[in-house]
Amino acid sequence: MINLSIGEPDFDTPEVVKEAGIKAIRDNITHYPPVPGFPELRTAIADKLKRDNNLDYSPDQIVVSTGAKQSIANVVLSLVNPGDEVLLPSPYWVSYIELVKMAEGVPVLLSASIENDFKVTAEELDGAITDKTKLIMFSSPCNPSGSSYSSEELESIAGVVASHEDLYVIADEIYEHIIFEGTHASLGSFKNVTDRVITVNGVSKGFAMTGWRIGYIGAPDWIVRACIKIQGQFTSGASTISQKAAEAAMKMDKASTMAMRDIFLTRRNLLLELLKDIPGLTTNVPKGAFYVFPNISSYLGKKFGKETIDSASDLCMYLLNEAHVALVTGEAFGEPDYIRISYACTEDTIRESVNRITIALTKLN
Ligand code: PMP
Repeated sequence: MINLSIGEPDFDTPEVVKEAGIKAIRDNITHYPPVPGFPELRTAIADKLKRDNNLDYSPDQIVVSTGAKQSIANVVLSLVNPGDEVLLPSPYWVSYIELVKMAEGVPVLLSASIENDFKVTAEELDGAITDKTKLIMFSSPCNPSGSSYSSEELESIAGVVASHEDLYVIADEIYEHIIFEGTHASLGSFKNVTDRVITVNGVSKGFAMTGWRIGYIGAPDWIVRACIKIQGQFTSGASTISQKAAEAAMKMDKASTMAMRDIFLTRRNLLLELLKDIPGLTTNVPKGAFYVFPNISSYLGKKFGKETIDSASDLCMYLLNEAHVALVTGEAFGEPDYIRISYACTEDTIRESVNRITIALTKLN
């Protein structure tokens, strides 16, 4: 079985980060931490956000959580009241919609077409906003499409957000370092929306630290206060050892992150090249993250024996059983005609899996 459903780098955490974690244990930094995180880490994050992203958050405006997933959950629970609409450009990351439902919000999907590189325009967003829209959630670079919004695109979106009162945006930037073309831009850096944007980030993807479970937000003071209240009751502060390791990650040289990014780029190019030879699959050219999100609609209605492929989920199940390759159905991301292929694996694994997928697909008629 080859697992291409993976959402994490297949690299090890950098040595200097591991050493910082080990030192924290040796130094007995093993007691309850402050709920929003150690002051040194919040300061290191505020410095990083200024240095890398041109974002002006004071250390008091940072909340450290057990993964960006908890950061997002805190914000959704803070902001969304029952009946509030939450606009989700699709494809979106799976957890957004479930968290909105948990808060009894109403998810409103706005499909971004593959022709527009899976990005919504400012005009499309404006057209979807109603007087009930409380929040917009998006990731750039995007899981699952790999799309990345340019500074100009974000500036237009900022204009739309600024023109609607009481509208907030979660800008999920967890893949910021895994970007292949252009530079990463942050919505919160536009001054007309600084008080409406919650910037979400973390160490999972850029520093190969998924298991350490550290994410964070930079946000307006009142949202920070609400998130601290919620987190204080759910989990308290994130693991002390992981916080010390994350502080080292914030301060370290980016060489290992850039080396990882370069390897992902080589793999992306290989995967795109190999996918070209499979008839009927269309993809965009993902600018970041480590996924390709091809359209598989030309395979819908095809048969294998008595079974018909009626959906992307059916196709994923077929490829699992027939090719022994695990993928994720686009239905999970709000786009039922697509599948997500992760290339967080070796080049040999990419070659072998595309080979298996090709053979399995030619058996369909
Ligand atoms: N946002 C996106 C877009 C993700 O893909 C992920 C991880 N799959 C997360 C947030 C959560 O990351 P963390 O490991 O920090 O909880």
